[in-house]
This record gives sequence, C-alpha cells and structure tokens, in this order.
Amino acid sequence: MKKHIIFLGPPGAGKGTHASALQSEYRLLHLSTGDMLREAITSASELGNKASAFMDAGQLVPDELVIDMLLERMASLEQGGWILDGFPRTLPQAEALDARLQEQQVSIDQVFCFEVDEEKLVERLSSRQVCKGCGAVYNTQSKPPKTLGVCDDCGKKELYVRPDDEADAVRKRFEVYEAQTAPLIDYYKRAGLLCRIDASRGIEEIRAELKRSFEG
Ligand code: AMP
Repeated sequence: MKKHIIFLGPPGAGKGTHASALQSEYRLLHLSTGDMLREAITSASELGNKASAFMDAGQLVPDELVIDMLLERMASLEQGGWILDGFPRTLPQAEALDARLQEQQVSIDQVFCFEVDEEKLVERLSSRQVCKGCGAVYNTQSKPPKTLGVCDDCGKKELYVRPDDEADAVRKRFEVYEAQTAPLIDYYKRAGLLCRIDASRGIEEIRAELKRSFEG
C-alpha cells in the first residue's frame, strides 16, 4: 500500500503499537522519531548525546536536530508508503515536512489523532515495559509477556520501564504535548486530513477502526 499517514497524539495513546501492526499488514514503513532517537542514544552518536538530556526530562528534542534526522532517513528510503509516528510534534516540524513532501510531489493521505486523557495515559505508561534486546513493547496490564519479565520475541530477560514513562515524566510529556503538539490538530484539520480516534478504547476496537479507514 502506498499511503502516507501521520499518527498524532500524546505519549502512550497507542501510536507505536498500531503503527507496528499496520506496518506488517499493509507493507508500510513505520517511522518513529522516538525509536530513532533511542537508537542514536544506544549507539552513543553525536545526535544521541545531544538528545538524551531532553528526552530524560520529558522535553522535546530541538526541532533542527529532529527535522534533519527524519528528513535524512526519508531520503534514504525507497519510494513507498509510510506511517510517521511521533513526528511532526511542532509547527516548524510540520512545515519542514510539508516542504520536503512538496519537493517530492508526495501528499499526506490521512492524519489520525489518537485522543485519550491524562490519567489514563499515566496508568498505561507506568505499566509499559520495553525489551532492552529487541525493543518489543509490552504492557503488564493489557499486553503482558507470556513469562513475566522475559521477552516473547527474543527471549531476553531485560524488560524495563523507560525513564520517561515514570509518572512525573509522563505528566511533563503530556503538558508538552498540549502546549507544542496539540496546535497541529488544527493545522491538519484545516488541511482536511484529520481523523480523530478515541484511543481510550481497547486495542482490538481501535485496530478495527483504523483498518476500516485504511481500506475505505
Ligand atoms: P516517543 O517514543 O515518540 O514518545 O518519543 C520519546 C521522546 O523522544 C519524546 O518525549 C521527545 O523527547 C523525543 N522525540 C521524539 N520525537 C520527537 C519529535 N518529533 N520532536 C522532538 N522530540 C521528539
């Protein structure tokens, strides 16, 4: 499928979970700037060193760093469809993306905005666990691994809670979302691309709605 999709929404709304499921089902590339930044930190690259303090504090990484990183990654891709997860997060990022897509004569097909309230996010994120080995994501309440503390995918016993998923950091990230990212809802609404998703529901219900929209 050659769709170009953006997933907008606060941290913990389920963007990553749904993007990775749709990636395999529709052969779309899942591009997550959060994952790219975490990889940069793991490999101790210059970008990773610059980004880590912002991420640990629940703040956004400066626009110029994230824009360069994403546009570089996009330039290296074969032509094809993608889901952008966690980008853009500010107006300058949205404008930089529009400018690049215009050059490439590519247009965004849909922007899905995942909506869920702050308390639900704190509850969800503090029970989220990530595998240190392969990055697989679990949730001790809604999607536990088969054996406690062990990754189903790679078998490593290194599931951990991301520092930015601790309750205080989540509240901070939600505040940042409201202040800096929520204005994009209006931006994409005006462009006629916005589709709101009630993300307080269960994973299966949301997946079914996304599938209907994709195939409709
Ligand atoms: P995520 O995994 O999408 O929740 O992102 C984790 C953290 O990475 C965020 O809290 C930000 O610090 C940083 N980050 C990810 N994407 C962006 C972006 N588009 N702009 C700025 N910072 C970002």
